[in-house]
Amino acid sequence: MVREVVRCPYCGRVSAELDDARVGLRVLGGRRGPCPHAAFVSVGVTGSDPAGRPDDALTWLWLWTRGRGLERLPRLTPLAEAVDLVACGIPVEGGPPLDAEYRAAGMTADERDDDAPGSGTVALVAPDGRAAEGLFDGHGLYAPDPAALVAALRRWAAWSAA
Ligand SMILES: [Zn+2]
Repeated sequence: MVREVVRCPYCGRVSAELDDARVGLRVLGGRRGPCPHAAFVSVGVTGSDPAGRPDDALTWLWLWTRGRGLERLPRLTPLAEAVDLVACGIPVEGGPPLDAEYRAAGMTADERDDDAPGSGTVALVAPDGRAAEGLFDGHGLYAPDPAALVAALRRWAAWSAA
């Protein structure tokens, strides 16, 4: 099934789609990005082992950044964490000084399930063939000046990682 990940709150265009059958993320719009407002698209599919612990073999993290494109991350980076915190409206100490206008969009897996039962969960197949489930989180940050938002979050991520 192909699922809509997040939609721009300014122009309404869909930014990315998740193909959950092959666990692939597609950012729409080609090299120029999904729309003129998109600064970041952050998506995670997090699977668990039978004991309920996060399983690296069943975990995918992607970050699309304006000016850089789509990356699959081996682990959560300071920049991806900053994007998720800002997108979820979680205040953080020394948090990014975001004086310019921006808007966040997207949903956590829990919010997706509240919105449409089952939509926050993805069926996965573990390397040993057993069936597993993953949680699907996806967010975007958008601004009239997305390059300025990217620069502000990059500065903060570098500061927080130092
Ligand atoms: Zn837009």
